[in-house]
Amino acid sequence: MAKRTPGLELPRSIIPKTVRSISPAMAKEYSRRWVLGHWAEIVGGDIARHVKPMGIRQEILCLQSFTPAWQNEIKLLEAQIVQKVNNFAGGKIIKGLRFTRPWEHPETFDLTESRAARQAAEASRTNWGKERARMPLNTAEMHAAEQIAENCSDPVLAQLVATITRKRIQMDKLRLSKGWVPCSKCGLLCEPARQKDEADHAVLCDACKRADAEDLRARIRHVLKNVPWARMKEMRKYVPEATTALIAEQRALLVQKLASEVDVNDKNSLKAMELVMLADGVSPDQLSEDRVARTLYRLRFNLHRPPDYTAPRRYDIIKRGKEGEQARRTLAEGALRMREHYLPPKQP
Ligand SMILES: [Zn+2]
Repeated sequence: MAKRTPGLELPRSIIPKTVRSISPAMAKEYSRRWVLGHWAEIVGGDIARHVKPMGIRQEILCLQSFTPAWQNEIKLLEAQIVQKVNNFAGGKIIKGLRFTRPWEHPETFDLTESRAARQAAEASRTNWGKERARMPLNTAEMHAAEQIAENCSDPVLAQLVATITRKRIQMDKLRLSKGWVPCSKCGLLCEPARQKDEADHAVLCDACKRADAEDLRARIRHVLKNVPWARMKEMRKYVPEATTALIAEQRALLVQKLASEVDVNDKNSLKAMELVMLADGVSPDQLSEDRVARTLYRLRFNLHRPPDYTAPRRYDIIKRGKEGEQARRTLAEGALRMREHYLPPKQP
């Protein structure tokens, strides 16, 4: 055991005192660094080898470990570790622990080093406002802005329009200089694609992407209205970009809409037949009495119901045994009319 040497102060206690005398903030920062730098001493080599401290955020010590077993171990020891860290620091500097992903610049680095890294990251970010203001405009561009403003009879408004237009031209020039690319449809400048798979596609702005997606859905709906039984293979003939998910989504949408127009007691109208074809993806030739009965029964809560409607029992509707066999083989009354009704769809 080390002998006590009263009167002689160790650097370990002199430095914190000195720092504290400079400023409380400095003292706090010093404690944080002190703790992070002495992690192995505080928790022991075993833990320190598997669990690295990253830094302290809002009194939470952020840790990083690739081993789930160690993460669990630490969680069990959390209260103890918090206590040990605070004891080591000589005051409450943390109140809990949390696991995070590895930081790019852990605070265990030298203070100046991590601060410099933060500042460098800050500086590399574009300050769009400042850079836009510095972007020079040539005479032609200035003239273009004036011309747009000339359309305003109100002089105050005209000035405002000229200013806005100049700013817009500056911003476009800045964006072009940063590698932005025009939308292939409307020409609006878009940030270059960040993902690789996007890079192969034609550039589209968000608004054009949305419009395209809606157009695709509309074309799928159009085919479903003409060929309610269309599945992937058939659909692709008319809409090559269609996906299973999109077809299912639009089918469900149309079923909802159509169901509300079919009366719950209706078994034979064209609309009822269309609904069955759409919901089940079956052609007019597959509209047996049994199929129609089962599907309309399944959809009974979506159908239009009169106020005095009471739901029938399942087997009053769906025939069993020999009767059921017969129903499966007999084409529903509406099916024959349906066949004539459906002609091959026109190209959407
Ligand atoms: Zn666009």
